[in-house]
Amino acid sequence: MHRRTFCKSAVAAAVAGTLPGCSSEKREVDVGSRIAAISREGNELSIETAAVNELADSLQGSLFLQADEGYATAKQVWNGMFDHKQPAIVVQCVTVDDVVNAVTFARERDLLLSVKCGGHSLPGKSTSDGGMMIDLSQMHSVDVDADAMTLRADGGSLLGHIDTAASAHEMMTTTGIVSHTGAGGFTLGGGFGRTDRKMGLAIDNLLAATVVTAAGDVVRASEDENPDLFWGLRGGGGNFGIATEFVYRLHPFNPVVYGGTLFYKFDKDFLDFYAELQATVPDEANIEPNFVPGEDGKTIAMVEVVWCGDHAAGEKALAPMLAHPGLVNGDLGPFPYREIQTSVDGLLGHGKQYYLKSSFLKELTPDAIDVIVEFANRGTVGSWFQHLGGATSRVAADATAYAHRDVALNFGIMYFSEDPTQNEARIAAVREYYKAMEPHMAGFYTNLNEDDEKRTWGNYGENYPRLVALKNEYDPMNLFRLNANIKPGI
Ligand SMILES: Cc1cc2nc3c(=O)[nH]c(=O)nc-3n(C[C@H](O)[C@H](O)[C@H](O)COP(=O)(O)OP(=O)(O)OC[C@H]3O[C@@H](n4cnc5c(N)ncnc54)[C@H](O)[C@@H]3O)c2cc1C
Repeated sequence: MHRRTFCKSAVAAAVAGTLPGCSSEKREVDVGSRIAAISREGNELSIETAAVNELADSLQGSLFLQADEGYATAKQVWNGMFDHKQPAIVVQCVTVDDVVNAVTFARERDLLLSVKCGGHSLPGKSTSDGGMMIDLSQMHSVDVDADAMTLRADGGSLLGHIDTAASAHEMMTTTGIVSHTGAGGFTLGGGFGRTDRKMGLAIDNLLAATVVTAAGDVVRASEDENPDLFWGLRGGGGNFGIATEFVYRLHPFNPVVYGGTLFYKFDKDFLDFYAELQATVPDEANIEPNFVPGEDGKTIAMVEVVWCGDHAAGEKALAPMLAHPGLVNGDLGPFPYREIQTSVDGLLGHGKQYYLKSSFLKELTPDAIDVIVEFANRGTVGSWFQHLGGATSRVAADATAYAHRDVALNFGIMYFSEDPTQNEARIAAVREYYKAMEPHMAGFYTNLNEDDEKRTWGNYGENYPRLVALKNEYDPMNLFRLNANIKPGI
């Protein structure tokens, strides 16, 4: 595909010469022609077309330039705010060797490099104008070893691939709340979801990963092999290389959970109730309220409930939710987990305009509740909680690069729309709400952050110096910089 696609491109069409090594199709090449691109530091580069041809020929996968058929699809990212970006080259890898060849090419030519798995980076880190995008989306095979209770996923897999494979064996590992999110970015940043309080974060279930480093080496990381790198991969994001494979621990799991969606009158009473409930329910419970406009335009609390354990125990533990006087609608009962895991896939689909700010909360205090009541009632932007604590908190802050083990909740404020003309006003509304919440927050999830390097570094807490040392070892030139970036240094 890469040869054909590349040969058909306008660039290739404008050429005049023959490249050895493209014997099957006798591609015509203007050895003198060049492709405009951008360097790591943002300077203009021009790359020889012949070298790009050679890279294309070395691949099992495909290479797309801007004029190629298939380029627009290959470079697509989830957030419509960044989908206009135009990488100079997209390398769609299908093998580890493809990844090695692409990384080597980018490093040797000083090309700005982005890495795309599911393409769900909120701040659009998996794409760029003028760089090379390494697109892993075609590397998504997933295998389960049911006896060993492990799951192996290629580095470009989506969370839905993992859910489907694991649930076929009545097993599960922690994945996120939208099935088209990439396992790559999700896992390397920490990874929480509807089972994390019971099973831990995705990184707590990660047993091993295979990584292509900036030097182009293929390195295995686990507790026994390169344990320092393994430590850094668990929360340090894409800073140390491209993960081409993850191995996760699986847990026995009834694919029918006890749960459902409950609708409550949104007021201080409800938030007081939730503050107590989220802190005291057993680990099996994951309770996540969304504050959204109801049919009459007034804000309601739409609460998603998942109990991943014995149903009778769930009925008993969650009975206070059904007895609460603010309950307006909804019920709890047996629910196929896969249905819940795909329930907001459409709502949070590709191509809309998205803007999000989020932070962790150690507890939901009365002061924080006052802010939420005021801002959520304005109805301009949505906000919600993701329930943490439980097993996610029973890991030491320095056991992995992910430092935020002592938090109870992730609080998100998000705007989304199909209409870009609303962006300015709604982004301002998200920021205003966030600013009011900030005094009550305790760090943030690097997977959901904006571009603010200093805050990102501070957010790694006491783990930061160790992360810099790892960066110096595995990526001293900061090739992997389009991420929650850790700069090499001292
Ligand atoms: C709709 C939606 C729902 C979400 N829900 C959750 C949730 O429930 N829980 C949660 O924890 N997070 C959630 N997130 C946040 C999510 O974890 C991050 O957006 C994450 O970066 C997405 O991963 P991706 O592979 O799709 O992203 P991409 O945009 O493909 O990649 C983002 C970054 O990750 C790195 N990266 C990706 N793959 C690899 C790889 N194989 N090797 C090396 N680096 C890689 C790169 O640095 C890249 O810049 C959600 C995000 C969205 C948009």
